Amino acid sequence: MHFGDFQQDLSSLDVISKDSEKIAIKLKGVPLQYANALRRVCLNGVPVFAIDTVDIIQNTSVLPDEGLAHRLGLIPLKTDLKRFNEPSKCDCQSESGCYKL
Ligand SMILES: [Zn+2]
Repeated sequence: MHFGDFQQDLSSLDVISKDSEKIAIKLKGVPLQYANALRRVCLNGVPVFAIDTVDIIQNTSVLPDEGLAHRLGLIPLKTDLKRFNEPSKCDCQSESGCYKL
C-alpha cells in the first residue's frame, strides 16, 4: 500500500461520539495493521496505573515468582486521574507523579 492510498482511506474515518474521556470512531477500508497502530497510539496516551514492584514472601502457587509478579503487573488499576498529577505536569520532579491535594 502506498501513502496516497492510506491518505485516501483515512477519509473514511468517522467520529461516532466524542467527549472529554472517550472517543468512538469508525474506520472503513483501512488495513488492519493501521487500525491496530492507531489503537496502540491511543492506548499509549492513556495513563494507567499498574503494580511495579512485587515482594513475594512465600509462593505456594504453581506459578514461579517472576510469572506471578509479571501477571500482577498486567492488571490495570482503576484510578481517579483528576486527583493525580502526571510527572510531566508537576513541579515536584517526581518520576512517578504525585497526588493533587
Ligand atoms: Zn508532584
